[in-house]
Amino acid sequence: MLLKIPWVDRTRCTRKLACRASEHCKVGAFVVQPESEEEPGKARDFPQVDLERCKQCGDCAKACTERAVKMV
Ligand code: SF4
Repeated sequence: MLLKIPWVDRTRCTRKLACRASEHCKVGAFVVQPESEEEPGKARDFPQVDLERCKQCGDCAKACTERAVKMV
């Protein structure tokens, strides 16, 4: 079986600092970027997945309120 990894759809992700996908990752692999200076309340870039830590469980994809995370 091929294992899937999380992929962030940049057309859907709103770069919220309070990212539900990140909150639901039990191993801290779904990493929200620091706050933007130009857009307070938003991260300065899209979240990154640390593939060394990721357990490929899919919890981030289920938790994302924007349906921006897919396991591919
Ligand atoms: S697939 Fe699981 S371990 Fe990997 S980033 Fe998402 S929630 Fe974290």
